[in-house]
Amino acid sequence: MMNIRDKFGRPIRDLRISVMDKCNFRCPYCMPADIFGESYNFLEKDEILSDDELVRLAHIFGQMGVTKLRITGGEPLIRKNLTNIIEEWVKTPGIEDVAMTTNGYFLAPVAHKIKAAGLHRLTISLDSLDEDVFQIMNGARSSVARVLEAIGEAQAAGFDNLKINCVVKKGVNDHTIADLARHFKGTGVIVRFIEYMDVGNLNGWKMDDVLTASEILEKVGAETPLVPLEENYRGEVANRYGYADGSGEIGIIASVTQPFCGDCTRVRLSAAGELFTCLFGNKQLDLRDYLRGGTTDAEMIEMLGNLWNKRADRYSELRTSFTKVPQKGAEMYRIGG
Ligand code: SAM
Ligand code: SF4
Ligand code: SF4
Repeated sequence: MMNIRDKFGRPIRDLRISVMDKCNFRCPYCMPADIFGESYNFLEKDEILSDDELVRLAHIFGQMGVTKLRITGGEPLIRKNLTNIIEEWVKTPGIEDVAMTTNGYFLAPVAHKIKAAGLHRLTISLDSLDEDVFQIMNGARSSVARVLEAIGEAQAAGFDNLKINCVVKKGVNDHTIADLARHFKGTGVIVRFIEYMDVGNLNGWKMDDVLTASEILEKVGAETPLVPLEENYRGEVANRYGYADGSGEIGIIASVTQPFCGDCTRVRLSAAGELFTCLFGNKQLDLRDYLRGGTTDAEMIEMLGNLWNKRADRYSELRTSFTKVPQKGAEMYRIGG
């Protein structure tokens, strides 16, 4: 395997691919409904990377040191034939782990199919079990029952390592996070609470809206004591906490208050093939042009390696030092978190 390093010595290990820019939800923290209305110009089919192009890219990144792929969006399950791509990705040399993050809306009928295709891990987003709060957090397009059904189907399909992502917004869903933790305690499902982030330029983020990791820990731990756990591997984004009674664990992703740029080995691709080396950075390359312009795999690897060597991203570590908030390169729905 190649040993490509960026300016801070970080290798390239995780590729997060948005396979679809569209989403059927309108979570205000990601795709505010007043901006992403009926007439919003999402990508046309031929602007989105094809199945073959996605498979080829995994081979290229696999040779560069990427071991983990995460399928995201927009909503990835809007994409047709995703199982065909999963089947190819899990066979790709170098790729050891293929995971997906979904809002769960379309999951129940296909959970068995994606498991059979070889998907290793699944994360389902669920911000609250309280129906009213869920509607506010996610833009009133689904229901708690539908997401819970999807979770049940995923478990029945054999995903025994499910994770739940819960974005925490102060004053909106923070009073329901202990309930969410309690619901999954003892089930093997790991709930991961995520500090609300300033991704993109459209969600009106304010630091005042962030419930910090320590506040999250206090709220969830008030009911059942939590003890810190060792990280599973270097660079794990969630801080792990176990229930003192041994009945499972939760994760807290403190991207705002405890940045983890030092271990950030992630690269991101939009559905159109735009490459980002940081969630908050600018587009670095349009890979689609190269894929469709006759560039060979070897040339791509050289070009991407040179780009990674120059990478010096560490937005979250610098966030508090900015006197003026910089313009971000992309919205969350384009690069998938
Ligand atoms: N649509 C899928 C879903 O919601 O699971 C996948 C894409 S979504 C962009 C990936 C993850 O990013 C979700 O768990 C979502 O809750 C999270 N997310 C979106 N906007 C966020 C923000 N501003 N701060 C923190 N997490 C965010
Ligand atoms: Fe859609 Fe996921 Fe963004 Fe919500 S967080 S709007 S479900 S892409
Ligand atoms: Fe990685 Fe950028 Fe997030 Fe830092 S801010 S952890 S460099 S994506």
